[in-house]
Amino acid sequence: MALSSHSSLPAILSMMALVLVHLCSGAPDPRQREMLMQQEASRKTGGTVALNPAELQLNAYLHKLKVQEMASVPFPPSMHFFKARPYIQQSAIFKLLRKMPKGAALHLHSLSLVSAEWLVRNVTYRPHCYICFTWGGSVRFLFSSRQPFPTYNCWRWHLLTSLRASMVDPAQFDNSLIQNLTLFTEDPGAAYPSEDEVWARFEEAFHALAGLVTYAPVFRDYLYQGLEEFYADNVMYVEMRSGLSRMYELDGSIHDRIWSVKAYQDVSAKFSAEHPDFLGIRIIVSSHRIQSVSTTKSAVKGAIELQKNFPELIAGFDLVGREDDGRPLWYFREALTLPAQLGVYLPYYFHAGETDRQGTDVDANMLDALLFNTSRIGHGYALPHHPLVKELARKNGVAVEVCPISNQVLKLLSDMRNHPAAVLMTEGHPVVISSDDPTLFGTTGLSYDFYEAFVGIGGLSANLGTLKELAMNSIKYSSLSTVRKKTLYDMWQKKWDKFISDHYQ
Ligand SMILES: [Zn+2]
Repeated sequence: MALSSHSSLPAILSMMALVLVHLCSGAPDPRQREMLMQQEASRKTGGTVALNPAELQLNAYLHKLKVQEMASVPFPPSMHFFKARPYIQQSAIFKLLRKMPKGAALHLHSLSLVSAEWLVRNVTYRPHCYICFTWGGSVRFLFSSRQPFPTYNCWRWHLLTSLRASMVDPAQFDNSLIQNLTLFTEDPGAAYPSEDEVWARFEEAFHALAGLVTYAPVFRDYLYQGLEEFYADNVMYVEMRSGLSRMYELDGSIHDRIWSVKAYQDVSAKFSAEHPDFLGIRIIVSSHRIQSVSTTKSAVKGAIELQKNFPELIAGFDLVGREDDGRPLWYFREALTLPAQLGVYLPYYFHAGETDRQGTDVDANMLDALLFNTSRIGHGYALPHHPLVKELARKNGVAVEVCPISNQVLKLLSDMRNHPAAVLMTEGHPVVISSDDPTLFGTTGLSYDFYEAFVGIGGLSANLGTLKELAMNSIKYSSLSTVRKKTLYDMWQKKWDKFISDHYQ
């Protein structure tokens, strides 16, 4: 076995250890055992992060808390998040994670940023808000200066203020509205017996959300509120997928996409001006994977144009929607090779591998994402089943955006300890943690997903070094330029040092 001059020191040490094991016979040597355990630990996410004395002290405290929490009954990561949430809220680890500077949120969708409670208690109380109850048992909202016309799915619109006033129990009525804007429910097993059913409710909730959020005067407040919720959770920068829906006004007029782009730009600038320790937002333009090749071609062209005109804001392009129902990436190859043909670079951030259907066309999406030169992989739930794809991703520095709660709610797994990201994290594969759709999953910011990753997926071997590397990964694998990454990293380091000193005794 020849060692190339490029072999890294840990790799050489690791090979030496394996040779030693091979030579060893008879009773195992305890020192060698210890050395192998240390080497394995050094491969995991955060395994080579050096902790200073203050960090080591916090690490020891976290370890103690985790030992207690892993022995507790019920153990929250083993339960469905909707049932686990009240326990997580009581957790000392979760309370620490809330305060921890987490860097960036890199996998979010623009229509599902804020709590459903805020939407109902704030937005639906604004004047001119109409509601209808659809045949499928969902709701739609519309702001209008006059009585809206009936449509197939909405044959009767009610002015919400009048309807609410006629209710015997308006608080109960508001709770039922909240139920239509989120998947959160106390009995998820009964409410969502299959993947198809939970995805159907997921799509319905998006339609219900859209009527509220795409009303132009609401949109700015909504986005600002979304950033507030992430900021309060110690997130300093956000990248979100957005289809750049067209915003409407009270008289029914509709703005063009440029209006939406400028609204994102304005709100981001305003929020950063009022919160100097928040860097801002970037948008990954998205198109639905159920569309045709020609529609996707137009979407790619549109994203190229927007990126040219708004390079600070527009980060790239993605295809969204349920992978198992949509068309595989390979189907869109003509559209996705368009930037290369035109001689321009449009970064891709593909959702890929959000599936448990091994061997299907959809299961090839991760390989295709890499062949189309994706910058990150959204979810990558199926990645451990593809060793070559995993190797290629790692070689090319393509991080996986892991969204544990989303995967559980959408029924890919039930117990977080079995999440495939456990494999990725033990190997130190580049990963970032994100929350996908906070409104729909009943989360806020990133802390709930960090909790599941740290306590459930990482288990006892995940430590403060793991958390530190996950936060630093979110900056390293963001779409920001090298200069802006450095700015964000310096901002984060300052907050991290404060977080550590606040907990140093
Ligand atoms: Zn997503």
